[in-house]
Amino acid sequence: MSHSIIASSNPIKVSKHNLCPICGKHDWCFSSVSSYSFSEGPNEDFVFVCCRRVIESQIQGEDGGFYIYDRTSSKGVHIYEDVMQRAHRYERMGIDDKVKSPTDYKVKVPKKKTILCENNVKEVDLIDKVYRALFDALVLEDYHKDYLRSEKWDEQLIEASMFRSLPPSGYDVYKIIQKKKSGTTLSDFEEMSLSLKNRSRKQIAQELFLKFGDLEGIPGFYLNHSNFNNSNYWDFSGKQGILMPMFNVEGKIFGLRIKLDDGGTYKWISSYYEKPIKESETEIVYDNPMKKGSKTSASVSYRFTDYQSPFLFVTEGEKKQNVVLIKKGIPCANVPGVESFRTMLSDLDALKERGIRYIIIGYDADKSSNTLVLRAELNLIQALLEGGFEIFIAEWSEVYGKGVDDVLLSGNDITYESLEQYLDKFDC
Ligand SMILES: [Zn+2]
Repeated sequence: MSHSIIASSNPIKVSKHNLCPICGKHDWCFSSVSSYSFSEGPNEDFVFVCCRRVIESQIQGEDGGFYIYDRTSSKGVHIYEDVMQRAHRYERMGIDDKVKSPTDYKVKVPKKKTILCENNVKEVDLIDKVYRALFDALVLEDYHKDYLRSEKWDEQLIEASMFRSLPPSGYDVYKIIQKKKSGTTLSDFEEMSLSLKNRSRKQIAQELFLKFGDLEGIPGFYLNHSNFNNSNYWDFSGKQGILMPMFNVEGKIFGLRIKLDDGGTYKWISSYYEKPIKESETEIVYDNPMKKGSKTSASVSYRFTDYQSPFLFVTEGEKKQNVVLIKKGIPCANVPGVESFRTMLSDLDALKERGIRYIIIGYDADKSSNTLVLRAELNLIQALLEGGFEIFIAEWSEVYGKGVDDVLLSGNDITYESLEQYLDKFDC
């Protein structure tokens, strides 16, 4: 019995109205149809679901259907088909699969997800007050200043950024002290961590708790437990690093980002995550191990100049944002993660009220080789045009650096292109 694929259709992309049946998301995945001819009987079309996120041997999809994994393409796409279709296709192809009838497929049914915790974030006015008090209570340690200076930051920039140092957690300090007691030589970093200017997180959190009466629902803060005297105390989450304020369009601090000392990655400060605490055949129960903790939803952060400006620069990253604000004197939006620009759309009216008319897009120079960044940028442009803004694109030679901050801090400057000039470079 012979067969061959005679045609394959163009892939049908998933959308908000047509979610990927495997992962349930509305982007990145697609489906395709292949026409097969067989030596006996008519030709037939078969649908393949192509997911880029999930790899499972069998899965009940978000649409309730049952799918079986077929293969992963050379481009990393995981290809699935409906179990009934698979059985039928194999039968027609004469493949003597061990599993002949769909009823023999052991279908993976997702477990019921029970979440005991809630992310009860407080209103932004209170969050802003607590964070400002937290920033007043913290300093930027010398080793962080040295790092920023090594990145060509001057004192004015360091001061204006409002960056602070998040001290090591109580547990991390405890571990270092235990290590020292045992006679093990400490690393330079560990040694330094014991002689910082900032007070402990516990001391600062206690002070803020007394000042505000409660810290529940302020992302980062949570109620920790001490086994020594079996009591609870307020604490702050996360590993040590540079703490950076994120401002909403009204200039209120709504969240914090951190550049971790360990590894240098950037993260949102959060004291909320859903941890599986109990699992049975049919159910997984989650709870937040950080009591009374919460998390910030990823949003765009704005910094404005003292005087009204019709320009708003848009880039990705806290450091770039501060460099553009201080060195160019242009208000700057920081879009943390290319997909979070969507949150900017709800701010467009407020931006117009602030007198913003022109938006300058200034993502990294590697955008043209990074399709994800490029696509986000084009989506943003589309939305901003519909919002009535005029768009310019910041351009610079990659010789000066990847990001706009590299360019400005090396004493070079950027140029501006109109949207038409920019789009001419792409087939769109
Ligand atoms: Zn998918």
